[in-house]
Amino acid sequence: MFAYLRPHKPAVVASIACLIVQSILLLAPFIVVEQLINYLQQPHGSFSRIVLYALAGVGLVAASGLVGILRGWLVLRITTSIVTDLRTQLVGRLLGQSVAYFTSNRGGELMSRLLNDVNVVEAALGDNALTLVGSVITAVASIVVMAVVQWRLAVVTVAILPCLALMLRAASGRVYRTRRDLQERLADFTAHSQEILSLSGIMLVKSFAREAAEAERSAVLADNLRRSDLRAGMTSRWIALGFQLGQTLAPLVLIVAGGWLIERRHATLGTLIAFISVLALRFGAALAGIGNGAVTVAGALPAWDRVFTILDEQWAIGDRPGSIKLENPVGAVRIEGVTYAYEGQSRPAIDGVSIDVAPGQLVALVGPSGAGKTTMTSLLARFYDPDRGSIKIDGYDLRELRRRSVAEAIGLVLQDTHLFNATLRENLLYARPDADEDALLRACRDAYLDALIAALPDGLNTMVGERGHRLSGGEKQRVAIARVILKDAPILILDEATSHLDSASEQFVQAALARLFAGRTSFVIAHRLSTVLAADTIVVLDRGHLVEQGSHAELLAAGGLYAGLYEIQFRGRDDDPIDDATEPVGW
Ligand code: ATP
Repeated sequence: MFAYLRPHKPAVVASIACLIVQSILLLAPFIVVEQLINYLQQPHGSFSRIVLYALAGVGLVAASGLVGILRGWLVLRITTSIVTDLRTQLVGRLLGQSVAYFTSNRGGELMSRLLNDVNVVEAALGDNALTLVGSVITAVASIVVMAVVQWRLAVVTVAILPCLALMLRAASGRVYRTRRDLQERLADFTAHSQEILSLSGIMLVKSFAREAAEAERSAVLADNLRRSDLRAGMTSRWIALGFQLGQTLAPLVLIVAGGWLIERRHATLGTLIAFISVLALRFGAALAGIGNGAVTVAGALPAWDRVFTILDEQWAIGDRPGSIKLENPVGAVRIEGVTYAYEGQSRPAIDGVSIDVAPGQLVALVGPSGAGKTTMTSLLARFYDPDRGSIKIDGYDLRELRRRSVAEAIGLVLQDTHLFNATLRENLLYARPDADEDALLRACRDAYLDALIAALPDGLNTMVGERGHRLSGGEKQRVAIARVILKDAPILILDEATSHLDSASEQFVQAALARLFAGRTSFVIAHRLSTVLAADTIVVLDRGHLVEQGSHAELLAAGGLYAGLYEIQFRGRDDDPIDDATEPVGW
């Protein structure tokens, strides 16, 4: 936590200097009050002298207030910068995580850490951590002044400290636990809200008419949050009451001790009154400040823990030291004995698969549902690293290559096209931000998007809506294809979806794909007979194993799994690329 203060050293030093000045200024009235009371006890005092004392007291308090404002500004500058650093680091850290990380962590939970937990950190830092330092300084300064003025009373005052330490220890532990629970409940509520209120979530809720059930679930989560909030809030209040009582009791102890000292002529009445009214109160306030500050910091620690869990999490798939940049790849792909099991799964999704693909070849991946086709393409895109075996591009193991250069060499078109809620142009340029207008229009033409763009109200500058919902499935897929054309990557991975396309869209997508495959090493999860027939090699997967590989004719002749699948799925269907089957081949 303190490491985050290091870059702000000058501001931290300045704010501590302000605190010291402020503490001295706050303690100075003690001298004034002591002088005033002692002066009042003298006969023939002058009224103007009394006013002067009063004004000096007020002036010192005002000056301390101004220094306080300066310190507040410095502290705010520090805390807001730290929070900005934290948020930026968190997002950077998350962006570097592997896909597996996101499948095993809830998006809403991560969002909650990014927002709710960082907010707690900010509140604790701003209002308390540095004020805590201030209270410690005020307490120490008070003790020094007390010791100088009346050491016997100072000893009595300091004797309170061990009690406070014990109270703090017990309080911090309890606050930590209640606050951790509160942050977890908050994350649960955020995650659930995010899930049901996302576009795909709300569509699912509506399609099953589950609004009432989701509202009920939300109410349960909100109530859990309320109870946790109540517990955490009440814990803080009880603790605050403890400190308040301590603060009230301390002067009482001092009055008793002081009375005894006056009786024995070790102290004057002026000293005692000033001691109790200013010093002891200031000291008591400082102790209460320490108590409350420490408790709030303890309450913020669970949020820090949650933030640091993300920051400390290693990247499963990162650049190794000495990794190589893939320069001008030609697209030769060699998969050697690759085995991969998802976390927590006993059976590998891909088991000992080897495929050798020459540059420019079209590989059709076929197999029954759950055979491992998507897993294979995810491994190729290095969303995951194989447990055993290797995948090589142009002879280099993916793990030896810089991630960025691998991503640049691969064009991905997934079944479910994701578009950002931005303009069509911005979505297209995502593939190549520096592409010029000519290249952009050419890609749109090659993906058969020009008619769509002409029909859109603002052409390329039309907003596509959340996840691109303003576009049809076929249009979105053509946007994805245009994006990949623009990227001009030598290797292509494509999940060939046809299920949501009408026949007109289908024709366009089909023709756009034919152009896309030309000259690129392509891996296609084939749902169309035309792709299967056009493939240089068909890879048949079953339960993670490569069971057959060859051309359509070879595999049919072999009479194995492929022949069976073909019999069920393709026979009798038109293999014309334009008039291909529109139903998905569920295999
Ligand atoms: P389909 O044609 O139905 O899309 P597929 O051949 O693409 O299927 P994969 O998605 O690769 O199959 O899945 C292979 C196996 O891995 C399946 O048994 C699936 O349940 C499992 N699987 C897929 N993704 C995960 C995941 N994130 N975590 C755990 N298991 C997974």
